[in-house]
Amino acid sequence: MGEKVSKLGSERLIIASHNDGKIIEINDLVKSFGIEAVSAKKIGLNDPEETGKTFAENAIIKARAAAEGSNLPALADDSGLDVVALGGDPGIYSARWAGEPRNFTNAMKKVEKALEATGSEDHSARFICALCLAWPDGREEIFEGEVRGQLAFPPCGDNGFGYDPIFIPDGHDITFGEMDPAAKHAMSHRADAFRKLIKVVFN
Ligand code: IMP
Repeated sequence: MGEKVSKLGSERLIIASHNDGKIIEINDLVKSFGIEAVSAKKIGLNDPEETGKTFAENAIIKARAAAEGSNLPALADDSGLDVVALGGDPGIYSARWAGEPRNFTNAMKKVEKALEATGSEDHSARFICALCLAWPDGREEIFEGEVRGQLAFPPCGDNGFGYDPIFIPDGHDITFGEMDPAAKHAMSHRADAFRKLIKVVFN
């Protein structure tokens, strides 16, 4: 086994997320490459407005702002639930469907009602995650991951977050909300995107 090598060009990686859970997860992933993940919040950067029309565009906006604000490489992710019979909704609006303050019981109800209104029997959906790694010199790399499954109502399980209680990944018969978190994390859209990033940036 050779030594693990990073193409990052820095020992610090800024994470453009205010979610402490994500920072801890990313730190675990990158520390074996001698890299420290630092949150954008910790170095006083503000969130840019997410004006993109796709997950990738929003991830680019966040990563680019953090790379330019810190003069260090920066990583951002954008994710959400894409429901086939709803033409991709709630999609990039997944968090916004939960209102302010966030209420995912309501958001899941909204998805159920919207599906009923289509009259479609098709409950297929996928979680999507776009990761953008941006460098201060303007370079950027995008990695997209997904996990496919079926929506089931009523919501089941208290694990995870967001829309996990209504999502049954293909090949399984329980929702992400009922699943052991480690099992979900190994098959999730984020894991898929991270595997692609690690293959390109760390080898
Ligand atoms: P963001 O990428 O942190 O802006 O999250 C977007 C939204 O997508 C979250 O608030 C959740 O509603 C939803 N979402 C993203 N990933 C997951 C997941 O793994 N499980 C459940 N919901 C998710």
